[in-house]
Amino acid sequence: MDKLWAPWRIRYIRGSKNKKCIFCQANKSTKKQNYVVLKTRYSISLMNLFPYNNGHLLVSPLRHVGELARLKDFEVLDLFKTLAKTKKLLDKVLKPNGYNIGINISQIAGAGITGHLHIHIVPRWKGDTNFMPVLNDTKVISQSLRELYQQLRDAYTKSD
Ligand SMILES: [Zn+2]
Repeated sequence: MDKLWAPWRIRYIRGSKNKKCIFCQANKSTKKQNYVVLKTRYSISLMNLFPYNNGHLLVSPLRHVGELARLKDFEVLDLFKTLAKTKKLLDKVLKPNGYNIGINISQIAGAGITGHLHIHIVPRWKGDTNFMPVLNDTKVISQSLRELYQQLRDAYTKSD
């Protein structure tokens, strides 16, 4: 696994953890104060103050919801539209070569704020640090792909 060099994160790691939800705070206060990039009726996108890479943004629903399944249809739609808009902004401004877009669920997966779900958008450039090594790490894929696929399909069928 590649090492991630992000010295500015030490402030986050050492600092006393802010108990308040940054997404709810950002929703309530002025845009500039919380680095809100854009805000729609149901979602918000803001800068990650402890970025893994330049342009690391966070997109979240306005409502304090931690569970994906608890999002209303209109929130999901708005969230993804906001995600697309936010990515477009990054396309325009930073012109990265690619992106990592993802959601960390629970602390074990690296979620700093577990109570309010949010999508990470991390621009990537050729030759930059390997972000989310978990996604690329072959150690994680201990289960055969086909086996996992089947389990997912079965679970999907049952959920109908
Ligand atoms: Zn919140």
